[in-house]
Amino acid sequence: MDCHGWFPALRLLAAMLVTAGTSGPALAAATGAKPNILFIMIDTLRPDHVGCYGYQRQTTPNLDRLAAGGVRFDQMIAASSWTTPSVMSMFTSLPPSLHGVTGPDKTLVGDATTLAAELKRAGYQTVGFTSNPCTHSKLGYARGFDLYDDFTVMLSSDLNLFEDFDQEKGILSTVTSPTINRLALSWLEQKRDPGRPFFLYLLYFDPHADYVPPSPYNRLFDPEYDGPENGRNLPDRAESGSAVFTERDRAHIRALYDGDIRFTDEHVGALLKKMEQLKLLENTLTVVVSDHGEEFWEHGGMLHGHTLYEELIHVVCILHWPGKIGPGTVFPQQVSHVDIMPSLLDAMGLPIPRQCRGESFMPCLASPDKPFPRKECFLETEIRNVQLKAIRSAGGKIGWDLKTGQKRGFNLREDPAEIAGVDCAATAWCQDPATRLDAWWQATLREVATRPEPQTITSEIDPRLKKQLKALGYLH
Ligand SMILES: [Zn+2]
Repeated sequence: MDCHGWFPALRLLAAMLVTAGTSGPALAAATGAKPNILFIMIDTLRPDHVGCYGYQRQTTPNLDRLAAGGVRFDQMIAASSWTTPSVMSMFTSLPPSLHGVTGPDKTLVGDATTLAAELKRAGYQTVGFTSNPCTHSKLGYARGFDLYDDFTVMLSSDLNLFEDFDQEKGILSTVTSPTINRLALSWLEQKRDPGRPFFLYLLYFDPHADYVPPSPYNRLFDPEYDGPENGRNLPDRAESGSAVFTERDRAHIRALYDGDIRFTDEHVGALLKKMEQLKLLENTLTVVVSDHGEEFWEHGGMLHGHTLYEELIHVVCILHWPGKIGPGTVFPQQVSHVDIMPSLLDAMGLPIPRQCRGESFMPCLASPDKPFPRKECFLETEIRNVQLKAIRSAGGKIGWDLKTGQKRGFNLREDPAEIAGVDCAATAWCQDPATRLDAWWQATLREVATRPEPQTITSEIDPRLKKQLKALGYLH
């Protein structure tokens, strides 16, 4: 099989446009001071609602500018379709079943290293600020960080420091990007050791439901709407099935989501501007990535976590590194969340731990003709009553429902919206990838059996955290 998926007659649409000069290790060695890494995670951000990915609304002028100065990945595929497993796959280069954080109460396996731990070992200051309770330190997200702040946003909500805030709904009912910016800038300006490189990880949460952008972002993209929809209590309403959304209401919900994206983009832009003023951007590799997308009724539902369709697993990825990555480039090949950790370590000239299941894409950025070595990626989601696995190439996807045993195949080139799935058992082209999906899952299960069981911490979860996770729909 060639690198272009399961449909050999079809070829990549575009040649590699990336113009960067050399591979990662050489890049880092060529500079004096070690480069910094700014890792921006934007929760629930769909690429098709982002300007540089072709969206018509002006949702992301700052992300578009960043992509224009760097590289946009056209096929970054999430490890899962919700926060907890996806973010940990970025941090460990392991699929969810192997890092163990497959639920809101499961912890990182004991012997796993992390991106932060590897950078810390190399002398980096490692600092993270998160606004999503699904990435709480109790689950292992703090591993390798000098400072992992998962409490300031939560504390601010407990103390009712936000405006327009519903105490019962916690961070769902407000915006948190301003707090993340304050924390990040305070650290950069007052607490950072300028003599050492930094790894700064920021999780922006606002595009996540509820969609409650403040004025003027709440009217920005649908000012004419005068119906009842306000974007609130969506996890509750979606789960109970109590809500009936007219087409007009649905359009307004998308506009509110877009308002949240624009609001977040403005904060990312303000952060980047300040870092530029501090002359911190020139020697910084900036990564912007999303953990998963969001469904707006494409397959009958909303929110995320419950399927592995494209609207949930096709994510944003932008890299910006002045003088190192050619501006305005596009990386067309399929890569995955698990490739991020090895790529960043490679870019910094650091060894890639044997644990990593992903591959560095940095050599492909350096050599336009170089095919990315892995042609397929695997996806998983386990949440509430759902247990799904999938294998995806650039041209097709097999989804496997472990509850029913059914496997369905989708030709992503002819049916990118995944409407006309076929029964794999009766379809010739499905056989090989379905066999590889089976083999991968069996091998994964064998490896899981050799590892200590991930701990379950439900009984120890702080009642306030538990309330937040329930409000998000991740716990019952
Ligand atoms: Zn998320």
